[in-house]
Order: sequence, then C-alpha cells, then structure tokens
Amino acid sequence: MAQQDNNSNNNNNFFNQNPIVTFAIFAVAVVLIFQTLIGDGSGSYKGVSKVKEVSYSELKELIKTKSITKVEIGQSYIKAISEAGGVKTLYTTRRVAGDDTLVPLLDESGIEYEGYSESNWFTEMFGFMLPILIILAIWMFMASRMQKSMGGGILGMGGSKKLINSEKPKTKFDDVAGASEAKEEVKEIVDFLKFPERYVELGAKIPKGLLLVGSPGTGKTLLAKAVAGEADVPFFSVSGSSFIEMFVGVGAARVRDLFEQAKKDAPSIIFIDEIDAIGKSRAAGGMMGGNDEREQTLNQLLAEMDGFSTDTPIIILAATNRPEVLDPALLRPGRFDRQVLVDRPDFEGRIEILKVHVKGIKIDKDVDLKEIAKLTAGLAGADLANIINEAALLAGRNNQDSVKQNDLRESVERAIAGLAKKSRRINEKEKRIVAYHESGHALLAETTKGASRVSKVSIVPRGLAALGYTLNTPEENKYLAQKHELLAEVDVLLGGRAAEEVFIGEISTGASNDLERATDIIKSMVQMYGMSDVAGLMVLEKQRSTFLGGGMTQGREYSEQMAMKMDEHIKLTLQEHYELVLERLRLYKGAIEKMVELLYDRENITGEEVVKIIAEFEEEHGLNSLLQQVETTKTQESKKS
Ligand code: ADP
Ligand code: ZN
Repeated sequence: MAQQDNNSNNNNNFFNQNPIVTFAIFAVAVVLIFQTLIGDGSGSYKGVSKVKEVSYSELKELIKTKSITKVEIGQSYIKAISEAGGVKTLYTTRRVAGDDTLVPLLDESGIEYEGYSESNWFTEMFGFMLPILIILAIWMFMASRMQKSMGGGILGMGGSKKLINSEKPKTKFDDVAGASEAKEEVKEIVDFLKFPERYVELGAKIPKGLLLVGSPGTGKTLLAKAVAGEADVPFFSVSGSSFIEMFVGVGAARVRDLFEQAKKDAPSIIFIDEIDAIGKSRAAGGMMGGNDEREQTLNQLLAEMDGFSTDTPIIILAATNRPEVLDPALLRPGRFDRQVLVDRPDFEGRIEILKVHVKGIKIDKDVDLKEIAKLTAGLAGADLANIINEAALLAGRNNQDSVKQNDLRESVERAIAGLAKKSRRINEKEKRIVAYHESGHALLAETTKGASRVSKVSIVPRGLAALGYTLNTPEENKYLAQKHELLAEVDVLLGGRAAEEVFIGEISTGASNDLERATDIIKSMVQMYGMSDVAGLMVLEKQRSTFLGGGMTQGREYSEQMAMKMDEHIKLTLQEHYELVLERLRLYKGAIEKMVELLYDRENITGEEVVKIIAEFEEEHGLNSLLQQVETTKTQESKKS
C-alpha cells in the first residue's frame, strides 16, 4: 500500500522534480510551433492540403490545362497553387534556366503570378537561429528562477554557496538565558574548538555531532550560535528543509559543499536546522523509502560525518523538535550520539529571558518582570522576545517615553490570544490536571521498590504531545530488568491516571500514552520474557527486526485460546496494579498536595525535593517507608502475574 502511494506521488511530482524534462518538452513545443508559423510564410499557402513536386514540363502542362490558380516565381523555385476539385494543392518545381516561355504562358492563361524572394543565407541562418535563441532565453530564465528558489546553479554544480550561511557570530552564552543545563553540556565543545591540539594530543575522542532537541523558539539556533561565538569560530548553517524540493543529487552536492567549506575553515561549527526534514526514518516512508532525494542527502551526510576523523575540529550541531522520527542511523555512535534538551523555560528561566530582551529597551522603573513571567507559563524564548518587542511597539504608538507594565500585559494578552489557537499555552484547568498527574508519577516512582528514581518533575509543556513530564533516571546503566522492576515501572505509569482519579475525580485524555506503555510492558512479560502463568516459558512473540517495519503483520503463532487468556491476564494485571496505586495515592494524599502546590508555584521540582516531601510526610504520619515498599512488592509477587 505504502509503496503504491509513493509511486503515484512520484508521478504527481514528476515535473517538479525534473525541470530538465519539463524544459525539453517545452523546447520541442517551441520549435514545432515556430516551424509551423514561419515554415511557409506566404498567405496563399494557407489551407494547402497536398504538396507535390513536379517537373518543370509537368507544371507547364498544368498551367496549360488551366488547373493552376496562382504562381509564385522565385530565383530558383517555382510554386504553383491548384484548387482543382476543391483540394488545394501546392506544386513545386525547380526553375529551368534560359526558358522564358513561362511568363508569356501565364499571361496567356490569365493566371495570377508574382515573384518572391527566396531565403538567402541570412534569412536561412536567421530561421535556423531564431528557435535556438528563443530556447536559450527560456533556459536562462528558468535557470535564474531555479537559482533563486534553491540557491544552486542548474544541476547544483558548485552553486550551493548561497543557501549555506556562513558567519562569525558574536553571540555569547550570556545571551542565552535560562537553559543552564543545555549550556553546561555544550561547554566542553567550546573548549575543544578553542584548543583542539590539547585534545588531539591526549587522544581524547570528542563528539562529532550533537542533537539539540526542543520545541520551536526555545533557542536552539541561539545556543548553537553562542557555541560558535564563545569559541570564536565560523558558523555554517543550513536548514534541513532547504535540501528537499529540488532535483535529485543537489542535496547531496550541497552537503558535500557544506563540509568542504567547514573543513577549509576548521575549527568550525556546522548547524543543521530542522534535521528531521532529511533525517526522517527511512522505515517511516514505506519499505522502499519515500523520497530518493532525501535519502541521497541523508546518505551523503552520514558519509561526510564518518569521513572526517575525530581530530578534525568540526562540530556538527543539529536541531529538531521530533527526535523520535529520526533515522536510527543518524543517532549511532560517531554521529549524533549525544542529545541536549533545550526545553521551554520555567518561571525562573522566563524571568532571565525577559531580562535579556529588555536590555536594549527603555523600560519604566516599576516594570515587574516577575508578573510577566507568571503570565507566560508554557511560552518559549522566541515568544517572550516577541512580547517585549510588541510592548515596545505599543509604547511607541502611544507616544510614551518608556515601556510600562501595562504595555507588557497587553502584549502578553495578544500573544496568548494568538497562541491559544496553536494550543501551546496551558490553561489553569489543564495546569491543575497536569500537576496532579505528574505528581502521581513522581510519588509512585519514589515509593515503589525497583522503580527508577525521579530527577525532575515539570508541568512545562514539552514537545507537542506531553503537557508535563517526570524525568526518571535508572540508578545505573541497566541492560537487564527484573520482574519486580518491570512491574514497578507499570505502577509508575499508572500513577498519573490514578492521581487524576483520586484528586480531580475525573480522567483526562492525557494518560493514554502511559496506559499504552504499561500495557506493552505486561504484554512483553507474557509474550517474550516467560514471566507469567498464562504462557509459562513459551515465547509467543519473537523480537522483531525493526528493519522489517512495524507495520507488517506477521501471522500469529499461537492459538485463539491463548490470545484470549493473554488479553484477560493483561487486563486483570493492570486492574490489580491500578488498585494498588490508587491505595498508595490515597495514603500519601498530603504529600501529593504538597508537590502540586510547589509545581503550581514554580512549575518544576527536583527529585531531591520529591524525596524530601515524601520523607517529611512519612515522618509526620508515622509511615515506615521501607516496610511500605517491601509490603507492596510482596503483594505484587503474591498476586499471580
Ligand atoms: P529555535 O532554533 O529553537 O527555533 P531560536 O534560537 O531561533 O529558536 O530562537 C528564536 C529567538 O528567540 C532568539 O533569537 C532569541 O531572541 C529568542 N530566544 C529563544 N530562547 C532564548 C533564550 N533562552 N534566551 C534568550 N533569548 C531566547
Ligand atoms: Zn503520564
């Protein structure tokens, strides 16, 4: 199915993708039209349906029989028109030198005749050149248009410089407000770019590629520029989307150019914005891959990244807000093997960003940026920059000499009204739901044995799907999961929805992904890990090769009864665990309320704070946390799973 779709798609785009073909068809059409227009210039030949070459004597004979109506005499050719029998026929013949009986014959027969000038070398050349000239003109016109739209010359030969931006930014880390974690992660790179020899001598391996992950406008480009600015190296930037929508081969050529320039100016930084445009997983576009151009570009990029050694001081930074769609090949070691989260700012972060952007602006002394930060939960840095600018414009329009708090408030309102459509900002009701939901995850994570610890809880929207998130860090790098750890994971996942039920009294749609993951865990325990009574040690599902694509349905290799038993088991297990989780949440009600309160205030709480809140609550209520944990694991294990 997917394959077929692709084919028809290609046909639709055929002309877009192959301007050369379009051009060739166009050129042939021009020549044909041109020839029919000027090929036989004279008007008397209109409607001629037959052309016949005859001998001179035959022509004379025709004149004598009066079947000719008009004759044109040139220096070496004679043309005669006959309309006998309603059919217009053109007779042509070579003139015979020295015969001067023709004209008297024509006079005698009363036939209209005239002379005509045959083409000399000039008209002949002109007739030959004109179509070529026209074609050339059209070619040049199209070429210049293509150049404009894609920045490369025809066929992309060496003409790709325009779309590759090269600059030496003055941006510094101070210009990037908030985002301290992200800045921390890229600092190492700055040092490497400044003193590459040090690292090379030590034989240290420096990452070649870093993926900056975050929603639009969160400052990924800004951060990349700041790295270049701090290290004082050239910054080459392209946008992933500029590689597509052109004909095959150009994207790859441009990637080659990009790396060539960067190497020439090394140490340097390459920045690829919207890398998902070229780096989309090949599996996602059907088995045969969707777009040739994208694939070639991607392959070239991979080849270039593998091509230079780690001691070449070039760092490639790429930005995306959809890391999950990227081709796994891009994320392999030696390529973009490090991800840096550039998140939407929290309350403190927003204050910092607002401060950066009011620097160049005259603001009233009683402007309170804290209030503005409070009003703008969920907005990204770019939105905040816009708000400040809009406020300044408002103040200007009102002829004020400085920006007042009211201008800022009004600007916020406008921005939010505009953004509400894009549903980027969460409203109060959602904020409440999300706060309880995430606190539920966090509580379960910190009170269930075997669960990953919480490192951060946030109600700042992240990505396009999640409204909030709880970051869990496994205690060590784990390759094996024990049964109780898998079940603990299920509890943590159920914690979000359960909290909504306990504290809000109603379920939202926000938990669907959690439930999906919880279901998957239990399913794999049954199907793959032999961790249930249902299937015993029997493996029902082989680990699928991702190359075959998830969309392929492989025939089920077990019986209908087994399937029913398994479904029943999954449902029951989820239910049992859900009830345990509800119980726990009711028990820890006060702790949840405390977390929600903090989240409401600051939008973010750290793992340590969660631990502290829980410990204090247990102390206060005489709960023994260790006992609690042991008990729950016991109950979990005693229930047949
Ligand atoms: P992205 O590349 O993530 O889409 P940009 O880096 O292009 O976002 O950000 C757009 C603009 O928003 C920046 O030029 C800057 O003015 C503002 N901005 C975004 N994040 C920040 C930040 N953390 N600190 C200061 N300004 C920011
Ligand atoms: Zn959740």
